[in-house]
Amino acid sequence: MVKTIETTGNISLESEAVHAFKNAARPVALTGAGISVESGIPDFRSPGGLWTVYPAEEYATYDVFIRDAPKAWKLYREIGKTVEGAKPNPAHFALARLEEAGRLQGVVTQNIDGLHQASGSKNVIEIHGDHQHLQCVHCNSTIPVVREHFTDNNVPECAKCSKPLKPNVVLFGEAVRHMEEIVALVTTCDLVLVVGTSALVAPANSVPALVKKAGGLIFEFNMEKTALTEGMDAFFGMLDAESDYLFLGPAGETLSAFVDKALED
Ligand code: NAD
Ligand code: ZN
Repeated sequence: MVKTIETTGNISLESEAVHAFKNAARPVALTGAGISVESGIPDFRSPGGLWTVYPAEEYATYDVFIRDAPKAWKLYREIGKTVEGAKPNPAHFALARLEEAGRLQGVVTQNIDGLHQASGSKNVIEIHGDHQHLQCVHCNSTIPVVREHFTDNNVPECAKCSKPLKPNVVLFGEAVRHMEEIVALVTTCDLVLVVGTSALVAPANSVPALVKKAGGLIFEFNMEKTALTEGMDAFFGMLDAESDYLFLGPAGETLSAFVDKALED
């Protein structure tokens, strides 16, 4: 049964959670779009945001990129411009501080914005790729993005095979990245901080379930309850997971306050 810690503070529950964190040997983090909302990058749900103009299911699929690259690039340009100016917020810095202190094994992120690396995190595994490179799906080469890729109205082409390039991100219909490395890491961990993810996107949402299966704890930081909060099936029903604690509120506040306490002597 999840224990919820409201932003207004439930001191005894919070200190119980901090104590449990301090006792964990190998904490890890799973992050999603919500951790970057306070950096000005909308998640899939924000009303009026990018994704309401360009629904992900319509624009962010591999099929659309292959059939109609100019259409797909309408979305990529907007994401590119949004990500370009974004800066890490206190939630990203909190995870970097934990790692620096030797209290976090790594960050598995669904985000493509590079803000974990920008905040100083070193072991970042990008399960959905990154938006800082363009990729040719024909010859597999990648190039770093430059501003013009997102300001020009042309679809950039591969210098080697003249095919349209796409951002080096995993679109719907493509395989995720680094899954073996992720499973190897998280199955050695005994606590997972799940920050700003709806836990609806597979297989990333199996990370908390893998930690739980190994006897570990799940600490969620979110604005609202999610699929994970009160119990969900992952891995096609083969694993189940339920949060132990939910820190309710903006992660920039809740996670950084939690990390302050977790790093106190
Ligand atoms: P999601 O949009 O499905 O869910 C975001 C979650 O974050 C929600 O549960 C929401 O309640 C929570 N949230 C919003 N603001 C928050 C805040 N300030 N503090 C804490 N929680 C907050 O995102 P998802 O689970 O990451 O899955 C969507 C997919 O979209 C992922 O694959 C991701 O790659 C992609 N995506 C990435 C970015 C990015 O790189 N920044 C942005 C949008 C979408
Ligand atoms: Zn090519």
